Order: sequence, then C-alpha cells, then structure tokens
Amino acid sequence: MKKIQMVDLKGQYQGIKDIVNPSIQEVIETTAFINGPKVHEFQKNLERYLNVKHVIPCANGTDALQIAMMGLGLKPGDEVITADFTFAATVEVIALLNLTPVLVDVNEDDFNINIEAIKKAITPKTKAIVPVHLFGQCANMEAIMEIADANNLFVIEDNAQAIGSTYTYKDGRKLKAGTIGHVASTSFFPSKNLGCYGDGGAIFTNDDELAHRIRGIVNHGMYERYHHDVVGVNSRLDSIQAAVLDAKLPHLDAYNKARRHAAGKYNKAFKDIESIITPKTVNGCDGICDTCDCHVFHQYTLRVKGVDRDALAKHLNEHDIPCGVYYPIPLHNQKAYVDSRYNEADFKITNQLVKDVISLPMHTELDDEQIEFITLTLIKFING
Ligand SMILES: *Cc1c(COP(=O)(O)O)cnc(C)c1O
Repeated sequence: MKKIQMVDLKGQYQGIKDIVNPSIQEVIETTAFINGPKVHEFQKNLERYLNVKHVIPCANGTDALQIAMMGLGLKPGDEVITADFTFAATVEVIALLNLTPVLVDVNEDDFNINIEAIKKAITPKTKAIVPVHLFGQCANMEAIMEIADANNLFVIEDNAQAIGSTYTYKDGRKLKAGTIGHVASTSFFPSKNLGCYGDGGAIFTNDDELAHRIRGIVNHGMYERYHHDVVGVNSRLDSIQAAVLDAKLPHLDAYNKARRHAAGKYNKAFKDIESIITPKTVNGCDGICDTCDCHVFHQYTLRVKGVDRDALAKHLNEHDIPCGVYYPIPLHNQKAYVDSRYNEADFKITNQLVKDVISLPMHTELDDEQIEFITLTLIKFING
C-alpha cells in the first residue's frame, strides 16, 4: 500500500506532468512572468467554467477577501457578519480593514453559517455577510441572499474550499459556488481543490462596475498608468502559477469526482457506527452521485460522539494515518478576536464542534486499499 497522506500533491502531479511542465516552460522561455498571456488565458477559462462575468486573479485567497471588501467600499465601523467556525483569514481581513467582525454560530449538520444567527446579529451598522462554504459545500445561499436583499447588505462568498461545487435553489436553478453573492473570493493554495504550486487567489463577480474598481485596487489603485485614483494594493497572480492553474482547470471536475468517490466509500464504511456522524450533504444526495456537484469535499470531516477524539487522532497517527482537526478553537475565543459583546451561549454549536470534529485524508489520489485501511483502523479503535 502507498503511504497515506493528508493531501497527495506529488501523486497528482505525476498524472498531469506532461501538460504542466511545458506550460511552465513556456512562461520561462517568454519571460512574461508578471501579467503574461497565461494569466489572461486562465482568467478567461475560469470565467467560462464558472459562468461568471469577471474573474480577477490576485496573489492569494486572503488578499482576495480583503480586496473584495475594499471594492465594496466598506468603511471602518461597518459590521460584517461571518461564521465562528472557519479558518481565521475571513475574520482577519475584516479586522485589518477596521471593520467590525460579528461572529455567529454555525449549523451542526453542514458546519455552515446559521441563518437564524445571522438574522439575530443584524444591526443598523451591518453592511455585509461573509458566508464561508466550509469543507466544500455551499452555505444556505438562497436564505442568505433573501436576508441581504431585505436588509440592503452585501454578500461576499468565501469560496476558498468549494470551487467547482454547484448550489441548487429550491426551484431547481443551479449556480456555481462563488457566483451567487455580490462578490466572491477563492484561494489557489496548493492543497485547495484547484491549487497551484505556490500562492494564488481570485475574486469573482457579475457586477461590471465592481469588477472595474477591483481591477484597479489589485494594481495600486491605478486605472491609468501612474494615476492612482484610490488606495490599492499590489496583489498579482504570477504567470507561472496561472500556467499551472490553466493546465489543472480542465481536470477540476474529475478531481472533485475523485474526492466524492472517496467520501462515498468513507460514508458507506461508517454508516452503521453509532458514535460516528458522517458529513451531511444538504440536498440529501450523499454528495456521491455523478450528476451532482453539491459537495466537493475539500475536507472529509466526521463528528465523533462519546469517543476520545484526541486519542483517536493519536491512534490513527500511530498507524501512519494522518488526520486533522479543522478547527480546534472557535474564532470568538482566539485572542486576536475576543470581544466583550460575545455571549458563550450564542456559540453552542461551534463550541461543541471544536471538540467533536476530525478530518480524514482527502485528496484526488486516495485509492480503495488506503480507504479500507483507514476505515478499518478507525472502526477498530471505536469498537475497542
Ligand atoms: C485557505 C483559505 C483562505 C485563505 O487563502 P490563502 O490563499 O491561504 O490566503 C481563506 N478562507 C478559507 C475558508 C480558506 O480555507
């Protein structure tokens, strides 16, 4: 059996080497390292894939979030509602821009931002909601867009973990994650579902005016060379990274399908184990059917009940099975983001999830033998 890895980038590279290498080589030969033709080609191809009017590449997913908020013209003191159970980047940029982060609780079943908690957190100062499509599945965007419309709020989708997933409305209408809100951000960090070989990110929007503003912001606030109309940043996607991404984009659906296949195998193996709660897909399709991309399993995250989670993690590691706890501390308890206005009683679910969750190896190269070894090792621990 191949050594099990949390993410197997080496194995994935072997399969696409013949496309990726010449694509990188071409950038080197032409020396168009910054804003070269590859960046534009990738941008156009991603716009087509997502069916969105504008993709604006930038340096990483954290920048993408920050630039999206700058583009919307959010001002110091504006309140921005986001999930308590996520990676810190989301709340970090809110705080960096001197906006006021308002963390709210999530759902127990899909780990995404809770709709009632959003409603409860809205004040006259609220300007935006940032749903994070955690672990590869969209938050309840239909309800979030309704709340935003009713309260005149912007919606910024943090789509770093769900690129390629599809959101289905109650009436059957489908949209790609990251094309539903007013603007969205994504990350091309190597381990993300569409990852490059360094840092990278992008902003998506269907709003022409906003796209224009953002294109200036990523480039020092310049709309005309050496005319700085607004305060901007320097945030670019390297041509070499764009070459990697453009070579990988045609494989994204197959990669996501491989992740779903692995998730399906895990789900099946754990189906009858009472103390394990497998990840729920909101439209009830189990996330594993071939016609549905509702979940792209950036992470495969279980909840364990009545089991010593940390002892389980140790047991897996002892059998050379890597695993992770995403995320071990609620954001509202992180030193940088404590706020006396928060009330522990409002974070019941996050406070519980941080104790229960464990993520298993999930990537495009997992084979059935590895999955069987992982599931048997885990079940053996649980059954004592
Ligand atoms: C990875 C990630 C980011 C940040 O992306 P970087 O490219 O690492 O800056 C932001 N939000 C979420 C939810 C992420 O998973």
